[in-house]
Amino acid sequence: MAEIHATRRSLAQQKIAAVGADAALITSPANVRYLSGLVSSNAALLLPAEGDGVLATDSRYAEAAARDCPDIELVTERQVDEALARLAAVRGYRVLAFEAQDLTFERYKVLARTDGAPELVPLGHAVEELRMIKDESEIGLIAKACALTCEAFDAVLGAIIPGRSEREYAVLLERAMVDLGADGIAFDSIVASGPNGAIPHHARTGRRFQAGDLITIDCGARYQGYHADMTRTVALGEPDAWQREIYELVAVAQAAGVAAAVPGADVRDVDASARDIIEAAGHGGHFQHGLGHGIGLEVHEAPMMGYGRTGRLFDRVPVTVEPGVYVPGRGGVRIEDTLVVRAGRAGPEVATEPAQILTTTTKELLVL
Ligand code: ZN
Ligand code: ZN
Repeated sequence: MAEIHATRRSLAQQKIAAVGADAALITSPANVRYLSGLVSSNAALLLPAEGDGVLATDSRYAEAAARDCPDIELVTERQVDEALARLAAVRGYRVLAFEAQDLTFERYKVLARTDGAPELVPLGHAVEELRMIKDESEIGLIAKACALTCEAFDAVLGAIIPGRSEREYAVLLERAMVDLGADGIAFDSIVASGPNGAIPHHARTGRRFQAGDLITIDCGARYQGYHADMTRTVALGEPDAWQREIYELVAVAQAAGVAAAVPGADVRDVDASARDIIEAAGHGGHFQHGLGHGIGLEVHEAPMMGYGRTGRLFDRVPVTVEPGVYVPGRGGVRIEDTLVVRAGRAGPEVATEPAQILTTTTKELLVL
């Protein structure tokens, strides 16, 4: 694994040089993990544009760091920012890039106050951009997290019965993921039943399932640091015409979004491919979130699709595609897959092959 992290660091070094910095202070926990292999809530990496990096963490993580990052010089200090800022000054760095999206203003002031402190410049999302395109080992871990999610979903489908509360069901689902081998959950599962389904990120409650409910379940397992994200909406009892209608609409829009997620696609076009279908059906006002997001060491990461975001998709970029229709006071439907954008096969007749869907649970409307 050490070689993978060393390769990632050398790619990051090109980006550090590109912003004109002598070094960067990497503080985002996911970025520190990505570049060093260390999992820690208190760690930072001083990475020069040329030469070897230095990792700082406190004594709670020192043993793990020595084991997991044998090829990086280690500093054991409680105040990791200060320790590395002092080191940057001692080394004579003139310009130090920092992660403005992560470093709080309070921590920034500590850096700026260091004796002989280098000039501080924002690094931007350089490491997040590197993280966007995954290697096959990362894709394997996301696929495993997705497989565990689907297995758990199937295992507790029978627990969706009248009288069961959203909260009770969420606990059963999350317990099943861990029993099947997940390290934990990717995020608190959303279980939104009946009228609660009109709230895209409903916080589960004690509401009990009733016949006639649509129930939206948004869940994911975590496996070796990587996340899964899947949403399915099921019907408890025979659905009404309006419920079937919005389900079919969302399913068609979701399939269009998946089909549009090819290498080179502009994220705005992928978003529009699904959104246009929902708008044309008169439900434009009922779909007010983005179509999807990248996924990896974080549940939500680059590339974001929607909200006017720009950018393109590439081979080996895992994303979610998750349109929804939310009818205030009545209920809603969301269907979400995690998938991997894949480059085309050789030959002019097949420009691209379909994305690789990792969440394979059926998207037919399940009537329970
Ligand atoms: Zn989700
Ligand atoms: Zn999602």
